[in-house]
Amino acid sequence: MGLFTRRKTVFVDSDILVIGGGMAGCGATYESRYWGRDLKIVCVEKANIERSGAVAQGLYAINCYMGMQWNENQPEDHVRYARNDLMGLVREDLGYDIARHVDSTVHKFEEWGLPMMRDPKTGRYQREGKWQIMIHGESYKPIVAEAARKAANKVYNRIMVTHLLMDRTKSNRVAGAVGFNVRNGDFYVFRSKAVIVSAGGASHIFKPRAVGEGMGRTWYAPWSSASAYALPIFVGAKMMQMENRIVLTRFKDGYGPVGAYFLHLKTYTENAYGEEYESKWRDHTKELVGDYVDRHPVPTCLRNHALLEEVKAGRGPIRMVTKEAFQDPHKETVGWENFLGMTIGQAVVWASQNIDPKHTNPELTTSEPYVMGSHATCSGAWASGPADYAPSEYQWGYNRMMTVDGLFGAGDTIGGTAHKFSSGSFTEGRIAGKAAVNYVNDLGSEQPEVSEQEYEDLERAIYQPLETYRVGRNEIVAGTVSPSYILPINGLQRLEKIMDEYVGGIGSFYTTNEPLLTRGIELLGMLKEDLAYLGAEDLHQLQRAWELQHRVLASEAVAQHTLFRTETRWPGYYYRADHPKLDDKDWHCFTLSRYDRDSGKWEMEKAPVYHIVD
Ligand SMILES: Cc1cc2nc3c(=O)[nH]c(=O)nc-3n(C[C@H](O)[C@H](O)[C@H](O)COP(=O)(O)OP(=O)(O)OC[C@H]3O[C@@H](n4cnc5c(N)ncnc54)[C@H](O)[C@@H]3O)c2cc1C
Repeated sequence: MGLFTRRKTVFVDSDILVIGGGMAGCGATYESRYWGRDLKIVCVEKANIERSGAVAQGLYAINCYMGMQWNENQPEDHVRYARNDLMGLVREDLGYDIARHVDSTVHKFEEWGLPMMRDPKTGRYQREGKWQIMIHGESYKPIVAEAARKAANKVYNRIMVTHLLMDRTKSNRVAGAVGFNVRNGDFYVFRSKAVIVSAGGASHIFKPRAVGEGMGRTWYAPWSSASAYALPIFVGAKMMQMENRIVLTRFKDGYGPVGAYFLHLKTYTENAYGEEYESKWRDHTKELVGDYVDRHPVPTCLRNHALLEEVKAGRGPIRMVTKEAFQDPHKETVGWENFLGMTIGQAVVWASQNIDPKHTNPELTTSEPYVMGSHATCSGAWASGPADYAPSEYQWGYNRMMTVDGLFGAGDTIGGTAHKFSSGSFTEGRIAGKAAVNYVNDLGSEQPEVSEQEYEDLERAIYQPLETYRVGRNEIVAGTVSPSYILPINGLQRLEKIMDEYVGGIGSFYTTNEPLLTRGIELLGMLKEDLAYLGAEDLHQLQRAWELQHRVLASEAVAQHTLFRTETRWPGYYYRADHPKLDDKDWHCFTLSRYDRDSGKWEMEKAPVYHIVD
């Protein structure tokens, strides 16, 4: 333990602090420099921005590109698309804001060296669907990271941010953040005038399908640990739509994406008996959600719903019919390359299970739920909108500023803007960066101040699991079960079990109700009490301990929101069995929460949904 007695405290001052150097964080860092030439811009990342976040292993498609230069789509079209997919509930002002700028982001990526596929006939970017364009994207993240590295005064890699710091002179104003270096244990105090949280989404909230044999195999990145939500929640920022968890239909066991198969290879699905099943569930679904089922495209959650109902009726597994398409050598190549480009694990799983899609139609399944703000759902922080477009009720300050002064967000962090994906997340980072520069400039000589007492208290709390383990370990001779501490993995599995059984995970076909949620919230409360006894053997486990703390707080938000919304808005993502139908009369609104860390209580409220685009 000598290592820790030599622990240093490092102070870092900046004008803008970007937490999380993924897609949104790189965008925020890049754009902050553009508008704030003389400002000190710092990015802090728990991994290494070169290969961090959900895009770490590369992507095969950019999923959000309008193509305005060729008049392919307009920003309004994207708002309509996202609104339809989310059953009416998106922040249209924020979505429009991303859509109008996202093309310029993609053009920058190409300028920086990202190889784009082009249609040989038209010379335009090669489309896979209405919004996607194809890329040779193995090096997508290093290319984007380079732009951020060149823009930042400094990038601090390997620092896990655990808490935000608040201004001691003005309540409800952010003043920085604290964290620790996961390699040498040094304690970091970041003092900053503005903070942009861009720390990704949340996996391992609900019990995953792969538990023992393949633990860690999840669709969303296993290192997406809900910091994006927990950091703002803990300081009282309002969150929105945290009940809107995402469930993905994917190839079984490897989570390989199905989009390119449907869109490009024109494959289709069938039940175990070779029958088409989606149309069978249309009338039943219509009773639940009305005419959403007839919309085009059919909302993602409703497509899950048909699959789930068919499996519940005993006619699973559902299979993707690949045998026909794979007879065409070109399509066969595209089918495999689709995985080799970004989900190589799926190809390995198929190889290990003797599945050659040319001869066997592979199984599909639905994933465990995740929490995120950038894909086909939009949980996250409640943010102020663009001055020229947002209704007054959605504006209380600078664009993408949360309800805490000086605290901004982008990407998975920000709620209400589904379908922004990698390019939209980077774009939202740019939007937040520009707004944060304006905020800092307007502060003038006024500076937030951090309280020594606050960061010293936090330092004690952050390293406590190492001490708890060191002392408690002496009480047992071997093994991992101790009367004095719980290990992060035990806490994680307990969390996943609670969320699965009470808040609508795979174990209950995503179904919950008020009594289950009420009990689940009680059990989460007990888990929170026990987190005071987390034990960490080393710095790696200390990181796991804080990731767990973040996951638990975000899970509590999910449970509270799910309890508050007494309807089933997104069948296929989750079901309130006691309120099985969509209820537009009472619930065509956003749900907002605010956590009070002193009392541990959650305040819930509704906020209006404004439809700005026809
Ligand atoms: C399997 C999969 C496939 C996808 N496919 C596509 C696709 O084909 N096309 C497309 O356009 N988009 C795709 N996406 C979506 C895209 O990856 C996300 O929209 C985007 O990465 C979100 O950006 P972000 O910055 O919010 O999060 P991320 O890019 O995940 O970045 C978050 C960053 O925060 C860091 N971090 C987290 N917690 C902390 C902490 N406490 N302290 C410090 N740092 C922290 C993380 O290490 C990470 O670097 C896919 C996502 C997944 C998971």
